Amino acid sequence: MKQELDAPIEKISRVSPLYQKRLKKLGIKTIRDLLFHFPRRYEDFSKIIPIADVKLNETCCIQGKILEIENRKTPIKRMVLTEAILQDNTGAIKVIWFNQPYLIKTLKEGNEVCLAGKVLLGTRGAYLSNPAYEKTGKGELLHTGGLVPIYPETEGLSSRWLRYVLRPTLAYFKDKIPEILPEEIRKREGLLPIQEAIWQIHFPDSKKQAQRAKERFSFEELFLIELLVLSEKIKTSKNKGFAVSVNLELIKRFVNSLPFKLTNAQRKCSWQILKDLEKPRPMSRLLQGDVGSGKTIVATIAALNVAKAGFQVAFMAPTEILAKQHFKRISQALKNFNLNIGLLTGREGKVFSAEEKKVIETSRKKILRDLRESKIDILIGTHALIQEKVKFRNLAFVILDEQHRFGIEQRAKLCQQSPVGKGQSPIPHLLSMTATPIPRTLALTVYGDLDLSLIDELPKGRKKVITKVIPPTNRKKAYDFIRNQVKRGRQAFVICPRIEPTNNKQGTTNNKKIWSWAEVKAAKEEYKKLSKKVFPDLKVGMLHGKMKTEEKEKIMRDFKDKKIDILVSTSVVEVGIDIPNATLMMIEGAERFGLSQLHQFRGRVGRSEYQSYCFLFTDSPAKKTHQRLKALIECENGFELAERDLKIRGPGDFFGKRQWGIPDLAMASLKDISLVEKTRKAAKEVLRKDPELKKYPALRERLKNFKKRIHLE
Ligand code: ADP
Ligand code: MG
Repeated sequence: MKQELDAPIEKISRVSPLYQKRLKKLGIKTIRDLLFHFPRRYEDFSKIIPIADVKLNETCCIQGKILEIENRKTPIKRMVLTEAILQDNTGAIKVIWFNQPYLIKTLKEGNEVCLAGKVLLGTRGAYLSNPAYEKTGKGELLHTGGLVPIYPETEGLSSRWLRYVLRPTLAYFKDKIPEILPEEIRKREGLLPIQEAIWQIHFPDSKKQAQRAKERFSFEELFLIELLVLSEKIKTSKNKGFAVSVNLELIKRFVNSLPFKLTNAQRKCSWQILKDLEKPRPMSRLLQGDVGSGKTIVATIAALNVAKAGFQVAFMAPTEILAKQHFKRISQALKNFNLNIGLLTGREGKVFSAEEKKVIETSRKKILRDLRESKIDILIGTHALIQEKVKFRNLAFVILDEQHRFGIEQRAKLCQQSPVGKGQSPIPHLLSMTATPIPRTLALTVYGDLDLSLIDELPKGRKKVITKVIPPTNRKKAYDFIRNQVKRGRQAFVICPRIEPTNNKQGTTNNKKIWSWAEVKAAKEEYKKLSKKVFPDLKVGMLHGKMKTEEKEKIMRDFKDKKIDILVSTSVVEVGIDIPNATLMMIEGAERFGLSQLHQFRGRVGRSEYQSYCFLFTDSPAKKTHQRLKALIECENGFELAERDLKIRGPGDFFGKRQWGIPDLAMASLKDISLVEKTRKAAKEVLRKDPELKKYPALRERLKNFKKRIHLE
């Protein structure tokens, strides 16, 4: 039974080799995969309307006879039109299909058909445009009657084709699909049994049934995610780690050496981390805090504690600029603590030498050697840290800054790099940091096996950033204001609009490329406009992701040294670099960003004693946009904004277009916090009673399968 369901799609006779290839591109390899490829929505063709009653611009379903049908080329665009006349006993209507000349082979004069589509007004009267079609009299309607499933669009795989394959396959396999939800949970939640639900999600009897089917699978998918995350957590809690005790005297000495007082939130988080480090299990903790909340110092405290206990620490940042900033700040902060601190990027190596108390340029080779010999205590760097050649001797602590910029494999790689030549070794502690505030329930799910620490307060003395929405009519006024501020010595950031990859036919990787180039183009145009037309009297610079690292570095340095007044940048260059003198943040196309992201941009300013401003430029008159942007004006708390974002835009948007392999339904359901909580509770309940899922073989099997596709943080 199981074998059949898990048989390759080749076994379905309707799937030709060409279609096998197309399906595999979507990750659909087995019959089960195919059956679990759900429609995105339904077209409602449940009402068949007499031709006399059709209305313009409405979708309708008509049954009748084809009086005539023929192909015709349009003179101008050289498109093929297939034109037909459909008649029922109330009247006749013209039908036009675009670029489907082969239709005349299927649909012939005299055929009884059902057509479903929209009625539009052309130059020569009303016509039914590009309708779905189906010959009647051959049993139940598949493409035109009732609620017709529409599947996510993919090159070469039409919904029509999917329906044609799915209907008979599902009819055959429906009763063979094992129920995976524990019966008591399914009953308690009032969910449809799987056999019924899977039919109803593809070919629903009614909207209500479609909804119930969707509810069942939303529950199921979230439940599987929760099970996965929780059982993973149980597993990792058995790993061996390095128990590093807290050296209180040392920490106190360090904290007292700082030029500022730690915030309470920083203290609390440092303590949580130090306590974790003491345990003989590897820590897995996510430190969340708004831009500027001071995460680096918290990480530094933990790093100091571990390094002084005689272990090595790795600190990885997503960009070179950021790695260097960390190196500079951390070696400065720790200069009196007798530690050797290294910097390793793609091209260079530096060491802050404990002995000489200064930075020495060295070769990468020497750094690698010193690292193996434990002569470097803390190594800061970029992705260079996870190269094959980089070997630590006794790495006990890994810190990841801006963790969302790294993949899970990269994280795992860094954690595996210790120690040289030993087999069964303990696993280093891991601290990930992020400025993306994620609502707690969501974080618990997506980062489920991580513990959370939260810096929910900014250092004292930070002024509130004045935030304003600028409609097109006020643009000039805003520019004048900026000029005025710059003349007084301040600096400004300009963020260019985000350009989303369009839904074109190519694969996603290609999309991304086109997309980032489009952003670069937008930045260049903005730069030209600002430097030539708007602020010809000021120094305008530009930064984008396609620049060489050296170029980027130079621009950032120039901005820091005040050689640039206004820095135009794409949204992709969003690293946490610290420029206190920049007090102006202008965001173009503000409506295209999520609230959380806007909030993060805003966090780039407001770090000095001067008043800072954030201007949100938007041409969008939509009321919704303005409501959303208003939230940003009213609210300064990243977490509150994140909650709002989640409600408004859903998690897909919220995390950017990250691919976790999470099924669409689950992704959409993540915004339903109460459902997330419910499924989490159910998963806990099941695991508590039966951690190995011995009593639920079907569930265990499904989970194993699920795990292969999904890769959470
Ligand atoms: P983020 O959380 O965005 O990574 P950083 O760690 O870069 O923030 O800190 C931002 C700035 O705030 C740094 O210049 C840092 O020295 C400073 N800072 C950190 N903690 C405090 C504090 N408690 N009081 C004052 N300034 C602080
Ligand atoms: Mg930071």
